[in-house]
Amino acid sequence: MNNVDSPLIFELSREGQKGYSLPKCDVPELAMEKMIGSANLRAQDAALPEVSENEIVRHYIRLSTMNHHIDKAIYPLGSCTMKYNPKVNEKISAFPGWTELHPFQPARTAQGALHLMHDLARMLAEIAGMEEVTLQPTSGAQGEFTGIQLAKAHFKHIGEKRVNVLLPDSAHGTNPASVAMSGYKPVQIKSSDQGILDPAVLEKTLDESYALVMLTNPNTLGLFEREIKRVCEIAHGKGALVYMDGANLNALMGIARPGDMGFDILHINLHKTFSTPHGGGGPGGGAVGVKKLLAPYLPLPVVCKDEKQYYFDYDRPLSIGRLHTFYGNFGMMVRAYTYILMHGATGLREVSEAAIINANYLKEKLRKRYKLAYDYVCQHEFVLSGDIQKKLGVKTSDIAKRLLDFGVHAPTTYFPLIVSEALMIEPTETESKRSLDEFVRIMLQIADEAETNPDIVKNAPQNTPVARLDEALAARELNVSYQG
Ligand SMILES: *Cc1c(COP(=O)(O)O)cnc(C)c1O
Repeated sequence: MNNVDSPLIFELSREGQKGYSLPKCDVPELAMEKMIGSANLRAQDAALPEVSENEIVRHYIRLSTMNHHIDKAIYPLGSCTMKYNPKVNEKISAFPGWTELHPFQPARTAQGALHLMHDLARMLAEIAGMEEVTLQPTSGAQGEFTGIQLAKAHFKHIGEKRVNVLLPDSAHGTNPASVAMSGYKPVQIKSSDQGILDPAVLEKTLDESYALVMLTNPNTLGLFEREIKRVCEIAHGKGALVYMDGANLNALMGIARPGDMGFDILHINLHKTFSTPHGGGGPGGGAVGVKKLLAPYLPLPVVCKDEKQYYFDYDRPLSIGRLHTFYGNFGMMVRAYTYILMHGATGLREVSEAAIINANYLKEKLRKRYKLAYDYVCQHEFVLSGDIQKKLGVKTSDIAKRLLDFGVHAPTTYFPLIVSEALMIEPTETESKRSLDEFVRIMLQIADEAETNPDIVKNAPQNTPVARLDEALAARELNVSYQG
């Protein structure tokens, strides 16, 4: 039973079934009341499901096959960099030396962990061309918020009141949201016909009311911002800082460094570029790098090293303070560190080169049947428009649903907002030519179907555990309780 009607774990439960067996107790038994006091005991046992070992294993394995994941097949979800997550990352991050650490342990007893955090921050700073890096943010969005707070602290310190932040209309939705959350006003600027920021337009818009220019490079159209040096000059000329949304760093490693382009702040998504697992809103890593000017404001504590040992530096009077209780998602840091060491400098460059080659390969194969939104050599991703298919009555959402029937995850759809019927495709470097060719075959078949048998596309998916969901209902009427 591989559909939504398969039973819940609670429905499988039968009283007295156990998923474990323990040897007979060889020490005197002590009643729980005696140990913790009866006031601390439940009046009734918790309603936990009771199932055998093989039932519980089969239940969760079945569930794991009902959803799509990167261990099943290609996952070309543009902007999300759903690359394969090497299993060695999991092995290393599960070492008991990491997993049995407690965040309250004195730093002198956790030197290995501090060593790793210190070195990972140094390596990310080197890759990005930045001077200092904090690993605390737990997502790209939190990285953006942190970076903007650093800029804000800087302008407060130098006594300048700036209220606006400038973003292009291709920006990821988290950008304006982080700007607004930080108390600045997001101001949108139109991208040029070439899909990038036009320095002339920027020059006209920007004045001393702007704290930041916030850009993604390569941008969400998969295009490198060719005018970036000029853009940074113009911004700095007005006393503004330049923020790079570095979620697309997968295209740049070992090739170009945001710091050298003139950016003052950037965030990096460890869970994209550095292969830590993501999806379903799971744990992430949104490291933030800055130039020296902004280092005094970094969140507390900063991991530092003196001649003898690694330590947490709390002595930063201008710091924006703590982001959260501890130091971020440490497990993600171990995975990213492992990934970087496994590849080395030349390996990371090859990752980016292969990501760019894979994207251009798909772009050239698919443009024969789909409209290409911007006709340039792309970076690690590109954007198609479903306009040709729309004229035949087949929408981009239909194409996305039809892909699911072939066991492929859909690309990102309807983003960036400036491309009609957008299909944003990012294959990543971890897909082989065989898997790219298979994706092309499926996409071309769907283009044929749109012409000859549009109903099959419009009624897709047929082969998935559920068909078309009301995508907004679960958010509006959240119900996760089990009424048994
Ligand atoms: C993924 C992404 C973000 C947000 O990162 P999260 O970790 O999902 O919060 C921001 N900008 C761009 C361009 C992205 O691709």
